[in-house]
Amino acid sequence: MKVFELWPSIAEIAEQVQSGATTATEQVEKALTAIEAATDYNTVLATTSERARSRAAEIDSLVKDGKEVGRFAGVPFIAKDNYLAFGAPTTAASHILENFEAPYQATAIEKLEAEGAILVAKSNLDSFAHGSSTENSAFGPSKNPHDITRVPGGSSGGSAAAVALGLTPFALGTDTGGSIRLPASYCGVIGYKPTYGLVSRYGVVAMASSTDVLGPFANTIVDTALVLDALAGRDPFDGTTIERQATYEITHSSLKGKKVGLVKEFFGEGLDAEVRTVIDAKIAAAKAAGAEVIEVSIPSISLALAVYYVLVPAEVSSNLSRYDGQRYGLSAPTAKDLNESYELAREEGFEAENKRRILIGTYVLSSGYYDAYYKKAQTVRTKLINEFNAVFKNVDFLIGPTAPSTAFKLGENVDDPLAMYLVDIMTVSANLTGIPSVSVPAGFAGNLPVGIQLMAPQTKDAELLELAAGFEGLPS
Ligand code: GLN
Repeated sequence: MKVFELWPSIAEIAEQVQSGATTATEQVEKALTAIEAATDYNTVLATTSERARSRAAEIDSLVKDGKEVGRFAGVPFIAKDNYLAFGAPTTAASHILENFEAPYQATAIEKLEAEGAILVAKSNLDSFAHGSSTENSAFGPSKNPHDITRVPGGSSGGSAAAVALGLTPFALGTDTGGSIRLPASYCGVIGYKPTYGLVSRYGVVAMASSTDVLGPFANTIVDTALVLDALAGRDPFDGTTIERQATYEITHSSLKGKKVGLVKEFFGEGLDAEVRTVIDAKIAAAKAAGAEVIEVSIPSISLALAVYYVLVPAEVSSNLSRYDGQRYGLSAPTAKDLNESYELAREEGFEAENKRRILIGTYVLSSGYYDAYYKKAQTVRTKLINEFNAVFKNVDFLIGPTAPSTAFKLGENVDDPLAMYLVDIMTVSANLTGIPSVSVPAGFAGNLPVGIQLMAPQTKDAELLELAAGFEGLPS
């Protein structure tokens, strides 16, 4: 089990910057030095060093003038490179956006900056967030902090690994089918997927608009909750955003009397025995701490992965049609005509997995196959939502592993897209139903981290964070 040098809490850093005990500049330099020292892991695609340093100087002068900077005063962070942000290109780990400079920033970045946080780098991902390992990045895979021969998980693998390595106290990712929770589990950090619509998607490169959500990675639930508190709420620029709860900050945590449903379907054949041992031990500890754990069944979970891999490619094929080499991103100046220009830009600009999804997506949406695939998948999605709602009448939360195994070897699944898709089997249901879900470190199988996944009904994010804080405090 590797131990990394981690940061003090966000609140402590901000308090020290505000009181003058340290400076924002020192914090930014500390992060940039750590990033420089960790290049072997390929977690970061670019730093925003110049802009970060000038923002730090601004914050330091505000502090000198006696001004209140905010809850994130001088706290450095990293965002997945599908967030539009100033200071470095926004590539989505693709060649088609390789030199794309964002004309505006994502709402999430703006909100954090408004409270004094400082973006220091953009992290690696599977190209356009299509993947479970970061191996689909156009710029090479990231590596797992606990074993450099293994993947960090994906698609937000760079952000998860960055927090595990202690490059910054927190980082941002996106989760369309598990891309925050899976790498959190593989890297041994917390990864939080909020209720669909709780965090604005404005300014984030779209993957599948009906399941995309943004969320944080951190080393403690208190920090995770603080970041969510800064991000959550309605945004006039994203019509799918919803009303927030009063606060997400953690004031107390207790497992006593919490009614938790153990999802039977997550404990079937595909679950690795060592992972199961770790999860079972956590559940036993939760019971000993007063949680009421009962087994529940959600039969349509067995269809969730198939549903996901019809609906998501359909949305992907539509969302990626805007990259046509004409308006922004890679273009093909040698093309003879317009059609060839589209073809060349998309041929060179997309990775193999992006193309696979465009093909599957356009196929399931085509007039001859729409009813057989797309419509049927939507029908099963509704059935899944109904089954989750029914179970939530009897329990307040659901629990299971985050992933069927620990981090796999680099290269192990690259030639087998179906094996890669199977990795998402435990995470996609929360996206299809829009419920909040969090992966909390539960222990180790050998030298590799294992995450436990906790879920709650839509909009019960504050309650879920409180439960997660209870789990975080359990002995392993
Ligand atoms: N691994 C899943 C996929 O490839 C999830 C991706 C994500 O959440 N961005 O679709």
